[in-house]
Amino acid sequence: MEDKRKLLDQPLHGIYIPIALILFGTWLFSWSYMPYTIAFIIVVCSFKYYEAYQRKSSLHNTVWRDFELIDRTIIAPMTSIYRFKLNREDEILDIPTGHHLSCCFTIDGKDEIRYYSPISNQFDAGFFDILVKHYENGKVTKKLANIQIGQTVKFRGPIGKLNYKPSMAKEIGLIAGGTGITPILQVITRIITNLSDDTKMYLIFGNETEKDILLKNEIDEISKRYPNFKVYYTVTYPSENWDQGKGYITREMLEKYGPKVNDDNMLFICGPPEMKRKMYEITQEMNWNKDNIFCF
Ligand SMILES: Cc1cc2nc3c(=O)[nH]c(=O)nc-3n(C[C@H](O)[C@H](O)[C@H](O)COP(=O)(O)OP(=O)(O)OC[C@H]3O[C@@H](n4cnc5c(N)ncnc54)[C@H](O)[C@@H]3O)c2cc1C
Repeated sequence: MEDKRKLLDQPLHGIYIPIALILFGTWLFSWSYMPYTIAFIIVVCSFKYYEAYQRKSSLHNTVWRDFELIDRTIIAPMTSIYRFKLNREDEILDIPTGHHLSCCFTIDGKDEIRYYSPISNQFDAGFFDILVKHYENGKVTKKLANIQIGQTVKFRGPIGKLNYKPSMAKEIGLIAGGTGITPILQVITRIITNLSDDTKMYLIFGNETEKDILLKNEIDEISKRYPNFKVYYTVTYPSENWDQGKGYITREMLEKYGPKVNDDNMLFICGPPEMKRKMYEITQEMNWNKDNIFCF
């Protein structure tokens, strides 16, 4: 439902109707006041324009904009969270759920563009966070690792295909591999922060080792606090004490820890291309409807 408090921010209600009423009032009262009325309208419109300019988003979907790095936190081997500043302290990077940003570095005269899904939520004001896994030979991640606090990085966006609507499914299976957790986390956060969205979520999260499980504490905390969220981890190289899944995500794991195969339910999949391909194959064997599967 439309927020009525924002009605005056719309040109029709905030500008056109008031101007028409003022002009009509002046015409009724006396034409001789018209120059003063016009001067008044110009002042009010300039103020409105200034206000709109101040409110404009830091991010543009076609123009690269520079964002200052204000913090960097190492959270796992070779993985950091980078925090970038938005233009205003009260600005929120309000991008559609599951969408990502493009990031550009010019390397040897060539623009290298990579994609990152912000992990900050719709309540984080004044900044946005991206979680980045570094690769030894990674062109862009190597550059990012060398950026100092106070320096800027180019971003534009958002881009993405997911059109998430609250309660669009009764149950959602979230299948993530490694950094594929980032858009999945956006979906989880969006659901748990919307009281009217009671979708049940089943996260199956695959990683190489226990140490590689990104944001495990945060995910475990969510599963403790929200009964509609369940998580199951699997690792390729488990330690002796590991008591959850071992190896890649399998059909058996999906059947036991995922949602029921049902047209009311959906699957969101994000991870390395090989994992996405394998998961898609498994879901077809399980008779999941193609329309109920979304691959990031
Ligand atoms: C929609 C989308 C969203 C994404 N969101 C995130 C995100 O939130 N966080 C994040 O860290 N990454 C994310 N990625 C991946 C990211 O865009 C880059 O591909 C990644 O950071 C590597 O870039 P690079 O230039 O450092 O490596 P490149 O120079 O492109 O690759 C160098 C080498 O690194 C290794 N490598 C690169 N990418 C991968 C990979 N995904 N899996 C395994 N090995 C790899 C390979 O050995 C490769 O040969 C996303 C990708 C897509 C398509």
